Amino acid sequence: MNTLIQQLCWEEKDGNSLYIKREDLLPFSMGGNKVRIAEALFQDMQEKDCDSMIIYGSVHSNLCRVLSAMCYHRSMECTMICSHEEGENSEETNNEKLIQWTGTPIVHCTKNEIAQTVDSVMEQIRKRGKRPYYIYGSRLGTGNEGTLAGAYADAYKEITAFERQAGWEFDYVFCPSGTGATQAGLICGHLLAGDHKKVMGVMISSRETERAYRVIADSVRAYFEKQQQPLSENFAQEICLLDQYRQEGYGKYDKRITDCLKEVYLKNGIPMDPVYTAKAFWGMKEYIREKKIENSRILFLHTGGTPLFYDFMAEQKEQEGTEKA
Ligand SMILES: *Cc1c(COP(=O)(O)O)cnc(C)c1O
Repeated sequence: MNTLIQQLCWEEKDGNSLYIKREDLLPFSMGGNKVRIAEALFQDMQEKDCDSMIIYGSVHSNLCRVLSAMCYHRSMECTMICSHEEGENSEETNNEKLIQWTGTPIVHCTKNEIAQTVDSVMEQIRKRGKRPYYIYGSRLGTGNEGTLAGAYADAYKEITAFERQAGWEFDYVFCPSGTGATQAGLICGHLLAGDHKKVMGVMISSRETERAYRVIADSVRAYFEKQQQPLSENFAQEICLLDQYRQEGYGKYDKRITDCLKEVYLKNGIPMDPVYTAKAFWGMKEYIREKKIENSRILFLHTGGTPLFYDFMAEQKEQEGTEKA
């Protein structure tokens, strides 16, 4: 699963060269980082000899889209636990529709009922003589961090292989950071390679910054334990999270981000979405400017979310419709 790394057209007078790794082109269910993460989960599930997958997320979730599609594709039983927040945006999204297509049964709950819902779903599956696999591990959603980080610890090797061929190294790798699984994986890859790149996560949600650092540190530790690799004591110094570009939080964005999205599309023909990739890309550009980073080689990890690009298009069309009326 080697994805393209290409140079971006983006003129600035800072002497930087900007590259993008096209995880959005991974060849399943419209791609994205969740394809690699789903593959890693399936492999772990197989190792644990389970035969019924329990997925968790919101109805808009890219991970649930990919996992529900992969379960269907592989004839694996799948149940989705879906939590809701008060005042949540109720517009139907493309991901929601695609999850519905698979016919995956959905168990709804509120944010503070997740653990008990996991318990009851697990019990019902066991009663039918099946062996359930909950993607996040325990009822409290912990214990599987090493598996989730593993996806991008492996993908990191594609970046170092590209560098070997090019004969130079990137100075920075930027990625959007949500749960932190992707960034944690990249940091594992970086630590194992012992190279000089800085892995920078651009936060896209309002998760407390300290908690985000802690989750990534735990994930790195879990991965190294799982691999039985020694981990240096001060590894946490390698975690860099930017929390100043998330605007009002998850799913919130203004014109600066949508202008950036359009510019990337117009100059490179690459779709991004305002929730994850365009927000993080915009944050990266701001950071480069603010910190006066110059003459560096910079890689942006395009983590996918293509269905959200079309959600954004639909929203634009709707707005134009209202303006005309
Ligand atoms: C899930 C997701 C992310 C965030 O990845 P994490 O591993 O949760 O930090 C970024 N971009 C897209 C498109 C995603 O679906």
